[in-house]
Amino acid sequence: MNDLPLHLVLVSTPLGCLGSGRGGGVELTISSLTKGLLGLGHRITLVAPKGSVLPPGCLGVTVREVEGIDQPSWQRRKFEGPALIPPGGVLPRLWSEALQLGNSADAVINFGYDWLPIWLTEKVSPRLFHLVSMGGVSEIMRDLIGEMARSFPSRFAFHTHRQAADFRLIDKPVVVGNGFDLKNYEFKFASKGPLGWVGRVSPEKGLEDAAAVAAALNDQLLVWGVIDDPDYARRVEETVPAGTIDWRGFFPTSDLQSQLGGCRALINTPKWNEAYGNVIVEAMACGVPVVAYDRGGPGELITSGLTGWLVPPDDVEALIKATTRIDQIDREACRKWVEQNASLNVFARLVQDWIRSGIVTEETKSASLEFTS
Ligand code: UDP
Repeated sequence: MNDLPLHLVLVSTPLGCLGSGRGGGVELTISSLTKGLLGLGHRITLVAPKGSVLPPGCLGVTVREVEGIDQPSWQRRKFEGPALIPPGGVLPRLWSEALQLGNSADAVINFGYDWLPIWLTEKVSPRLFHLVSMGGVSEIMRDLIGEMARSFPSRFAFHTHRQAADFRLIDKPVVVGNGFDLKNYEFKFASKGPLGWVGRVSPEKGLEDAAAVAAALNDQLLVWGVIDDPDYARRVEETVPAGTIDWRGFFPTSDLQSQLGGCRALINTPKWNEAYGNVIVEAMACGVPVVAYDRGGPGELITSGLTGWLVPPDDVEALIKATTRIDQIDREACRKWVEQNASLNVFARLVQDWIRSGIVTEETKSASLEFTS
């Protein structure tokens, strides 16, 4: 395999512009990967909704902004529901631009969890690769991703094995984890501070269980993140004594990490098959151990007893017990795990290797087709 720099077109999430928080963890994935791939010498063109802002360190990337209405998120729709594109939607516009650019690029990498780009995989000549950001949250997506990934295994990558398991794949999945710019996270040696919770405030994130832990321990829970579902937020607040939850709001990474680092533990309570769990790794990068349900990505990111505690899913009593044992966790081990497994460089190299080997697979396939015809 040669190691010449690649020209890669990255296609952002259609859920909102980068920097808005509406795209969830994918926003950070795109920023990290852009930085990491630039650092490896690749040429990057980013196609993203208008208003997108990339963090410092992404100088040199060409950004093509596209105007249009945000895609509705899948989490709030029925599992059996259809794929939707609103009138004036940004999704098809992102893809018109990306496919045009893709004609002269080595590969196009899709970060949007949507029906249209996955369906395009076998229909267009630019080579489309998909970094799938969620599990099988909808029937139509689960089935299409599964079907395409079984036919074109080299075009799909996942964040964790548990996420990939949702798609009934035949081949061993490509798992690339995720990457974080460690310069952005300050390690804090010790903390007797409060408990923290970070994420979109939405039912699949299970905030009510973390709030129950704080209430049981007569403690406070600091909550950071976009309130996706205000009714749900209100309902959670009603389940615990007044003042238990301190709603902090959404902050850029620099502010989030400096506040989060002061927590003695992060509580992570997903009710769905979390694909990865950025906030777990961000907490650990600051030295904050994590107590989480052993469900989805968190179960692969946390080493129980070393970087936090994993407890059986939905077992609030076990969460409470584990939280009282958080001082047994060495905060330095948390930071070290991130340095070894989820740095920008580790992530960008895994993605680079995935794309390079996918290109080789495609070239071998078309060479053998030419030979037999
Ligand atoms: N986040 C942030 N500021 C906040 C709260 C959250 O930037 O105040 C980001 C956080 O850094 C993470 C993302 O929101 O990258 C949430 O990602 P995660 O993978 O945990 O869940 P998702 O929203 O993708 O389901």
